[in-house]
Amino acid sequence: MFKELQEVAKLIQQVEQCLPDCQDLVRTEVLTTITYQNESFPIHAFVIGSEDKTAPTLGLFAGVHGLERVGTHVLLGFLKSFFTQCQWDTSLRESLKNFRIVSIPIINPVGMKLLRRSNGNGVDLMRNSPVEADKGPWYKMYRGHRYGPKYPWYRGVAGQLEAENYAVSEFVKREMFPAKISMGLDFHSGFGLKDRLWFPYAKSSEPFMFRDIVDRAVDLYENTHPHHIYKIEQQSDSYTTHGDLWDYLFFESRKSHPENIFIPWTLEMGSWSWLKKNPIQLFSKQGFFNPVVEHRFQRTMRRHYILIEFITRLMQNTDAWVIKKEEA
Ligand SMILES: [Zn+2]
Repeated sequence: MFKELQEVAKLIQQVEQCLPDCQDLVRTEVLTTITYQNESFPIHAFVIGSEDKTAPTLGLFAGVHGLERVGTHVLLGFLKSFFTQCQWDTSLRESLKNFRIVSIPIINPVGMKLLRRSNGNGVDLMRNSPVEADKGPWYKMYRGHRYGPKYPWYRGVAGQLEAENYAVSEFVKREMFPAKISMGLDFHSGFGLKDRLWFPYAKSSEPFMFRDIVDRAVDLYENTHPHHIYKIEQQSDSYTTHGDLWDYLFFESRKSHPENIFIPWTLEMGSWSWLKKNPIQLFSKQGFFNPVVEHRFQRTMRRHYILIEFITRLMQNTDAWVIKKEEA
């Protein structure tokens, strides 16, 4: 078992043994087990808070791309302190009666073990869904392609969701779609100067259906944290891609729960801020996507806590910003 998967196991232990007060608040499960070269890799999930699935729900996800371990580290750090806080913070426990957090900290355990972006089949899980992007030049391979698993951004076999994506989809459909309002935050890292916070769509630059609600949430964030670090934009402002899992789930939610609001966000942590201070990282595959020096790693953890904490508050106070269109 690699380090991050061990951390998840420790977290489950923390929930099961060390937090008797919280046991009724936190449920854990293994969504599926991926087998790769005779080794088994479980995909673990957490469901925290109310058992009422229509309650506001926050979904926290990481480890879609195995190389981008920092996302999993930030998420595990958050969950760990959240569970610890649950032990003594009665107001937090009380609030969890009315909202929920669901989480999958490592979506692609085989990729993480192998230090690569794709899963064990060489498929890029963020290019694998049946969503087709608007037309774009064929040579932009990073948009997703079917030339084979030898090349990065391979979409996999047409019409076939990889086991990891199938597990995530079933979990999100079951635990998030019934909520009147739910938001997802999926942690990634990539080569960039800025930390980018993306809302849908990835497939096209047509305006996102819930843009008005997104704008209200962003206004609250910018007023509350005026010096925040994120570039907030529709994902297609950076680039459009085929097969985005969150686009796919968004359209699935429209089909099965058109009365509810599901807004999946993606956080792309820019690695350039680590690289420019420690350029030697450029020569390491891991260093390219993760802060390696300890204090920079700590700082990365801290700066994103503010965001997760804020989104948690948003979901505890949905009346403040999710106003029906006719009331607006
Ligand atoms: Zn990624």
